[in-house]
Amino acid sequence: MPYRIVVVPLLFLSACTAPRGAGPNVDAQIAAEIARIKAIDNHAHPVRPTLDGEPPDHEYDALPVESLEAQSEPIRQRPGSPELLAAHREIFGGDKAAAARKYGRDYAAQVLDRLNIETMLANRVALGPGLTTPRFLWVPFADALMYPLPTDPLIHNSDQKAFFALEARLLQRYYAESGIAVRPATLGDYLDKVVRATLERHKSAGAVAEKFEMVYLRPLTIGNPARADAEQVYATGRGDYTALQDYIFRFIATECGRLGMAVHFHTGAGGGGYFNVTASNPLLLEPLFNDPNLRRTNFVLLHGGWPFERQLTALLTKPNVYADFSAQSFMNYSRNTAAAIRAWLEYVPEKVLYATDAYPYAPPAAGWEEVASVANTSGREALAIALTGMLRDREITRPRAVELARMVLRGNARALYRLP
Ligand SMILES: [Zn+2]
Repeated sequence: MPYRIVVVPLLFLSACTAPRGAGPNVDAQIAAEIARIKAIDNHAHPVRPTLDGEPPDHEYDALPVESLEAQSEPIRQRPGSPELLAAHREIFGGDKAAAARKYGRDYAAQVLDRLNIETMLANRVALGPGLTTPRFLWVPFADALMYPLPTDPLIHNSDQKAFFALEARLLQRYYAESGIAVRPATLGDYLDKVVRATLERHKSAGAVAEKFEMVYLRPLTIGNPARADAEQVYATGRGDYTALQDYIFRFIATECGRLGMAVHFHTGAGGGGYFNVTASNPLLLEPLFNDPNLRRTNFVLLHGGWPFERQLTALLTKPNVYADFSAQSFMNYSRNTAAAIRAWLEYVPEKVLYATDAYPYAPPAAGWEEVASVANTSGREALAIALTGMLRDREITRPRAVELARMVLRGNARALYRLP
């Protein structure tokens, strides 16, 4: 086993990860088992620990939330939320700066140790010193590759204006890393020398998946255009830009299947007052899942598509579709998240993944560490409520409840990403 053994004093661990107030809807034995399991976090944005004198890390997201116009924040996420304040006091005794000095490059791994998370999939522009395998596995961003033409006509609000500028910058980075100075003349050359080259570079740097934040830029309705149509738009800059994006997306998804990387989609509601919730419904992706040409590619529906989480359940029967409950685990209270998890577990339990979506929303008080802590406590509690309900309704036995907990917290992710 290449994984480092996590040494955490037992008392501290149970204080951190035991579900809050194991009330009447939580079986104490199941809760205790869940607290013990070393988790694989399917989706998060850890900040890279930097040393004194180094510039702060900004690569935790391709489209950071700082670019968004103000919105009415969900109540659990607001600054001053009692849970976030409690998490802030708990982590390193409320002094993250002292812990950062003490642990240096090992700081982020120390955060994982305190939450009993063995491995975190880090959805970032890049990893780097302080975020290294096997504790952190890389999930880079692929949206930028879908926009080789100017994006001005696609911008309808200030959020998109900021986002497309960031995507253009990331595409420039992908060009530079691919050794390409200017946009290739033909779509074939672009796909080969920029898109495929970038995906292969990501894969050889250890990436386990490519992430799409597509719905922040356009709806999840992805067509299946003819290559000639896409080539025409690419070459002339005129015609249906969406068709070109769709063609490039399908190329990326096919390549991900060939390279053994999953495709991660943001699904369901997201940040910002202009976010298109309707266009984030994971059911819109069904034509992709039903395409025989994409059956080698595994798709993971991040955030479980809330508020479409019940509808998403039906998609889990597709052989290559998975879901996690990231973000639900800190945006929604456990009772609500438990209902989603239970519906999925009662249907296709091998496809359900634990995740936090730890994100530096408002550091230092609400950094990725605090969000990870709240999501970890709430997510484990939601899983305990779901399994307790299934046990008490005699749907499953006690040993099966423990087995399901292990599958959700780590076994399913290990199988999906072929981890040791
Ligand atoms: Zn995320």
